[in-house]
Amino acid sequence: MEITLALLKPHVVRNVYAFREIKQIIQQNFTILHTKEVLITKELSEHFYAEHKGKFFYNRLVTFMGSGPCHAFVLQSKGSIAKWRELMGPTKVFKAVYSHPDCIRGLYGLSDTRNACHGSDSEASATREISILFPELNINQLTAIDSNS
Ligand code: ATP
Ligand code: MG
Repeated sequence: MEITLALLKPHVVRNVYAFREIKQIIQQNFTILHTKEVLITKELSEHFYAEHKGKFFYNRLVTFMGSGPCHAFVLQSKGSIAKWRELMGPTKVFKAVYSHPDCIRGLYGLSDTRNACHGSDSEASATREISILFPELNINQLTAIDSNS
């Protein structure tokens, strides 16, 4: 069993239909350990996306993430990190639409920035990102339970 962070971006949270459909995909594939709506301030977003600082899309990305509430999930399943990234599909929406039309980004992405969702890319990223967005959780306890299950 493995845990990951899934984050639905503001335009998806605003779209009741898209949000419901994606939540259904999540429920079918994972155990939801924790979930909440979260307003990611620009400051928090800059911390969350620190690895992308200096890239041409960085400012656009951190501004967009603060444009409305996001919805965060701590998900658990066998191979949850790869599974959620597979369900999201390619980062770039034009690629997603043509090569993986049924993936979440292919269905609900609007642009490379507004690509519907985020997923941790490694166990270390998952731990880091869950700690940032769910500071109230005891991450050590969460990962210990995870590795024992
Ligand atoms: P994520 O980290 O959101 O799950 P990812 O791992 O597929 O996506 P990253 O390279 O980590 O992609 O990029 C993080 C986010 O930055 C992307 O989800 C997207 O919103 C934005 N981004 C990445 N590349 C571009 C780009 N070329 N143009 C615009 N935005 C981009
Ligand atoms: Mg990434």
